[in-house]
Amino acid sequence: MSDCLFCRIVSGEIPATVVAETETTLAFRDIAPQAPTHVVLVPKTHSANAAELAADPPGLADLFVVAAKIAQEEGIAESGYRLLFNTGADAGQTVFHAHLHLLGGKRMGPLA
Ligand code: AMP
Ligand code: ZN
Repeated sequence: MSDCLFCRIVSGEIPATVVAETETTLAFRDIAPQAPTHVVLVPKTHSANAAELAADPPGLADLFVVAAKIAQEEGIAESGYRLLFNTGADAGQTVFHAHLHLLGGKRMGPLA
């Protein structure tokens, strides 16, 4: 059994509200949403952060392809949305399984 939260969600051991799934990506709603749409997209195989995930270009690309599809489905493709990877302590990363945040549905402020 993995001690990684997002690996446990990928395996189905911990429930999540899944909004999209491909061979390499799982996308689910953030448990503490920071915007009307807040989806977390994770690669199904473990990487600690975006820098490690860069070793898997197809897996990385799939996160962005799926994010764009979800934005269409959620009706925020035209109004705009934010995609971001928190990487490391200064960025506030709390779960050390790489994940792309998709945020939208409200006007957002500056990044930092
Ligand atoms: P980060 O701070 O970038 O590492 O993002 C981790 C995100 O995972 C936060 O936005 C959390 O709200 C979210 N999160 C933590 N636990 C869960 C969970 N069980 N299901 C869905 N999202 C979660
Ligand atoms: Zn993991």
